[in-house]
Amino acid sequence: MPEQNEGIEISVGELRSKYQEEQLKRLRTDGLKQFVSLKDKFAELDSDPYADPTFSRDPITESTEVVVVGGGFAGMLTGIDLQKSGVTDFRIVEKGGDFGGTWYWNRYPGCMCDVESYTYLPLLEETGYMPTERYAGAPEIFEYCQLLGRTFDLYDRALFQTVITGAVWDDSAGRWIVTTSRGDTISSKYIVIAGGILHKPKVPGIPGIETFKGKMFHTTRWNYDYTGGGPREFMDKLGDKRVGIIGTGATAIQAVPKLAEAAQDLFVFQRTPSAVGVRNNGPTDEAWFKSLKPGWQEERVVNFTQSVTGAKPAVDLVNDGWTDVMWTNTQAAAESPEHLAAMEVSDFQTMEKLRRRVDSIIEDPETAAKLKAYYGKNCKRVCFHDDYLPAFNKPNVHLVDTEGKGIERVTETGIVVDGVEYPIDCLIFASGFEVQTDLDSRVGFDPIGRDGVSLSESWSHGAHTLHGVLSGGFPNMMVISLVQAGFGTNFVHFLGRSARHVAELIGACEAQGVATIEATPESEEGWLMVLYGAIGGGADYVTTCTPGYFNSELAAPDEKAAKGLVFAGSLLDYHAHLDEFRAAGDFPGALVTKV
Ligand code: NDP
Repeated sequence: MPEQNEGIEISVGELRSKYQEEQLKRLRTDGLKQFVSLKDKFAELDSDPYADPTFSRDPITESTEVVVVGGGFAGMLTGIDLQKSGVTDFRIVEKGGDFGGTWYWNRYPGCMCDVESYTYLPLLEETGYMPTERYAGAPEIFEYCQLLGRTFDLYDRALFQTVITGAVWDDSAGRWIVTTSRGDTISSKYIVIAGGILHKPKVPGIPGIETFKGKMFHTTRWNYDYTGGGPREFMDKLGDKRVGIIGTGATAIQAVPKLAEAAQDLFVFQRTPSAVGVRNNGPTDEAWFKSLKPGWQEERVVNFTQSVTGAKPAVDLVNDGWTDVMWTNTQAAAESPEHLAAMEVSDFQTMEKLRRRVDSIIEDPETAAKLKAYYGKNCKRVCFHDDYLPAFNKPNVHLVDTEGKGIERVTETGIVVDGVEYPIDCLIFASGFEVQTDLDSRVGFDPIGRDGVSLSESWSHGAHTLHGVLSGGFPNMMVISLVQAGFGTNFVHFLGRSARHVAELIGACEAQGVATIEATPESEEGWLMVLYGAIGGGADYVTTCTPGYFNSELAAPDEKAAKGLVFAGSLLDYHAHLDEFRAAGDFPGALVTKV
């Protein structure tokens, strides 16, 4: 438990009731159906504002060893590790106009990584790059992705502004036939789906939304033509604009302070407040960075994951808000009912500390009360920012709390909450991303495996995988996603180790003359049991949370949803499963055919 919680008085009974009250306000029957995918209803809001619209190239017909779907960190690291595993013939196919994934798309003002850059940015020792700040801004991270692309010769292997439209397994040839939006046909032995986790923007299906006559966009497709400025510059066209932003999650926390500086008036429409702790960002201490000894980054990355999952390493190397809050999966580690009870108290205290921070910053007590988060620390991603809460002390910033109900209606000229219309010129959706929708919907194509069976058909009663990576009926297909896989505060720790797993697995298959590899039904069933076993105290915990994407908006899970879970234990335990599988050398639990 965080030692810093000592002395924080709380009443367990009162807080349990308060949390329940806040949860009840938010329960709704439409669950995930309350959202619409941009691609379905607002295709124009989904278009890429950053890529060259005039780009064109001739279609390619080629044969390669591996097609990697996605050029974000997962895809890039797969490409880098494939080379380290001796596989140099591969293609990376990416929808965006460059590498970067989430850091390509998210260019909203104030966007930064909320995890320390020394642990988040991969391969710092190999590139020799020193992040400028402890928590790097998005433009720097995007540039770092480009540096990785150049350093590891990924650009020549990339097809940008290209969307995969189909992938069909040809059993007689033992290859995937991949087709794209630019008329390409690529035959490959393996396909790695690293298509992103939080990249399909969603918006709430609020009545009247399509009638709005002002400017609308999602944070992940920021319209700088309208706002002026840029990711690093002041938005100079908002001085006479009334701006509304829907959402108060991790994205909004970062965008609101910048909008508050620039807009004539800013209306923040809140359904559930985020808990916001101290950030304390600052420039990198060059002398310290240069003093780090070889191997420091892996040690720091593992130490951070240990700290946030409650493993209590001897030294907390990162020692920031995350390691104080210990955000992820801690309940899954409960050893006994007493331990679980102690965790509950500690959780209440941690959140109480964050609520007190609101009081210490916000001048108006009514506003302060609305900004306090009453739910457990693992229910939503805890946020860290030093300018978010102070923004609400500014006269041009108006918190419109919807008492957990959300926006009532959108009109041609504004937003209606509780019968009151707030006229606005611009509406920004900080309303998040598809997370629980089917994998094929999120990656944008439905792979067709053995015997012509598509992934959506094969997974129609729920995902079935070994480690979230291999799936029966889909030979030589490897997936890096949250479905039945690990999860961690530092996403890149998860993505990087998954990429290494996949790349080394392909390298090992090639070394051993493997023709095809996929999971067996028995190993998939066994893995599902591991997943269920790892939930521990986490299952009850979730039922106390307010709804959100972490818990599928608290919708009762059907058979399919129940199998779409993530590995709830420590990310390090998940890694151990992957390492054990590879170390065995003979692919235990996989159905393998030889050349
Ligand atoms: P979230 O899904 O976390 O937040 C969406 C917000 O929209 C919530 O506040 C939600 O309220 C609100 N909302 C949804 N529907 C309505 C409605 N009808 N009326 C009013 N409000 C509504 O999306 P984010 O983009 O903020 O973050 C998604 C994830 O992206 C994060 O959890 C994190 O993993 C990642 N991220 C990471 C960052 C980093 O620095 N590493 C930075 C930013 C994002 P409610 O809570 O009530 O559902």
